[in-house]
Amino acid sequence: SSYHKVLEENRMLYNQVQDLKGTIRVYCRVRPFLQGQTNGQSTVDYIGENGNIMILNPLKQGKDARKVFSFNKVFGPTVSQEQIYVDTQPLIRSVLDGFNVCIFAYGQTGSGKTYTMSGPDLTTEQTWGVNYRALRDLFQISKERADVVKYEVGVQMIEIYNEQFTLTTYTLDIRNNSQLNGLNVPDASWVPVASTQDVLDLMRIGQKNRAVGATALNERSSRSHSILTIHVYGKELVSGSILRGCLHLVDLAGSERVDKSEAVGDRLKEAQHINKSLSALGDVISALAQKSAHIPYRNSKLTQVLQDSLGGQAKTLMFVHISPEVNSIGETVSTLKFAERVASIELGAARSNK
Ligand code: ADP
Repeated sequence: SSYHKVLEENRMLYNQVQDLKGTIRVYCRVRPFLQGQTNGQSTVDYIGENGNIMILNPLKQGKDARKVFSFNKVFGPTVSQEQIYVDTQPLIRSVLDGFNVCIFAYGQTGSGKTYTMSGPDLTTEQTWGVNYRALRDLFQISKERADVVKYEVGVQMIEIYNEQFTLTTYTLDIRNNSQLNGLNVPDASWVPVASTQDVLDLMRIGQKNRAVGATALNERSSRSHSILTIHVYGKELVSGSILRGCLHLVDLAGSERVDKSEAVGDRLKEAQHINKSLSALGDVISALAQKSAHIPYRNSKLTQVLQDSLGGQAKTLMFVHISPEVNSIGETVSTLKFAERVASIELGAARSNK
């Protein structure tokens, strides 16, 4: 019967999720050289199959020039959006079984965060990023399970800029309230959504409602964190039991360090807020990985908003993005060091389990 099919599917899914070993995974993605750029020397010297990446630093000599970093997976510049999603999908599916999941895109501005999360062009499904593929899957799977579990899906979008929630927050959720972990999010109104198209339409409306013009928006989006949250509420028809799952898709602010001598005024303030929140995120994730007694969620708005979905039974995936150009080498190395800090302990455990 379809009920047993779903149970079997759940069991397989459970195993897949357990296979993800630990609650924190880190994937590294290398963006290709951009069109029109001369294909200069790449700082990515070698990508191994088992999650290793070797970086060549042309500013260093001898054996210091090459350094290997290790992650759960490394995706090279030719890996497609589709292939990226294959390794993300088990986590997305687990949301329908009541797991909370956070997926982050980290990296300097221009390294491909938005490409991974949203994609370059909403009108071509082939280039869709994780966001829309996840929505498509959630709606599709909930339809397939319709005679076993009745699902309702809601969406919410938040931007955090200078440690404040800004712009239109439109919340399209059912049985929940307009507060996130006790934080008041402005303009929260709840509307259920039934298809990926609904969400795309609403996102367009949301974009229009943003107070800033397009250029300013582009500029600012690299300095703000954008969080797309998908809530899933499911009722099992036979048992009547309730499932709640939540997926946060987070396009983080650019991680580049700002030259202290150059940054003044607004720019300096933005940079300080970004630094603070990204290091708060790193602190929370590494405290979780080390199973610390105290997890410092309170140190930033970002970690406060995501508190329910970081730690405990929740699963975290971070995509760290690097650019291959030589002039990005400083940011590339600091991005990879940040990512290793986030990943190291869980990875160590996963390796020794193999
Ligand atoms: P970020 O969000 O980190 O600032 P973007 O996602 O805007 O960076 O990417 C910067 C540029 O690089 C964009 O023009 C984007 O289309 C392109 N790009 C990023 N990643 C890829 C990729 N994997 N394949 C092809 N083009 C990419």
